[in-house]
Amino acid sequence: MVQKTITKAFTFTGIGIHSGKEVSATVSPAPEDSGILFTRLDLISNNKIIVKPENIRSFYLGSCLAANNEARIITLEHFMAALSAFGITNLTIDMTGEEMPILDGSASGYIDLFDKVGIVSQTKQIAAIVLDREVWVTHNDGHLVYLPADNFEISYFVDYGDPMIGKQQYSYCHSKDAFMREIMNARTFGFFKDVEAMWSRGLALGGSFDNALVVYEDHYSSELRYPDEPVKHKILDLVGDLYLLGRPMNGHIIAIKSSHALNGKFAQCISDAYNLN
Ligand SMILES: [Zn+2]
Repeated sequence: MVQKTITKAFTFTGIGIHSGKEVSATVSPAPEDSGILFTRLDLISNNKIIVKPENIRSFYLGSCLAANNEARIITLEHFMAALSAFGITNLTIDMTGEEMPILDGSASGYIDLFDKVGIVSQTKQIAAIVLDREVWVTHNDGHLVYLPADNFEISYFVDYGDPMIGKQQYSYCHSKDAFMREIMNARTFGFFKDVEAMWSRGLALGGSFDNALVVYEDHYSSELRYPDEPVKHKILDLVGDLYLLGRPMNGHIIAIKSSHALNGKFAQCISDAYNLN
């Protein structure tokens, strides 16, 4: 697969769903083999964080990347999912804070930004992660399984045991077109009963009906964008979390009731297995 970057730099601004703080990010093209590099402009030193498996950290309710204990970037999964859809492999992102803007809670805003600026193919190739054996992780009733395959496919199953979402499943084969057609508009969702607990932990401070789908006992806060929007958002998150490996992947992923923490552990296991290959 050929390496890709963007044609020119652009800047966007938005609030973080957890911090509620406004963040500005400038995204710029980068040379071949340089990878995806975040810089925290609000920190004086140790402020560069490259996307690679060793830098994946566990974070409640979102993805987290950290080069050390000082510098971290959180809630970057929707941004990373958009990079994965376009196959962008080299980029720099200069941020004024630690949390990626949530935009409308989906990946469509990021897709639009990259679509507008344009993608450019570079000369060198990047090898996709391919394994010749299964890898799986489990935590409580959450499971993730990697099966060798020629495409990047995700079969996802959720069961919230609630009256609105309940059980949903969806099988998806990743490509830019499929992502734009089936996945990118699916929004972040949360249960109304959990909102106060999140606020007391300093989370979801920037959450609103404009950037999240709130699930009540007998209705949603707004009209669904897809009938199975929640499971599609879980697929969006998994695509983004797995792109924290820093390169594309081929394989069929079976996901059952996963979480960002389990996605991160799974990415680490896949990285370990890939390096042993
Ligand atoms: Zn998400």
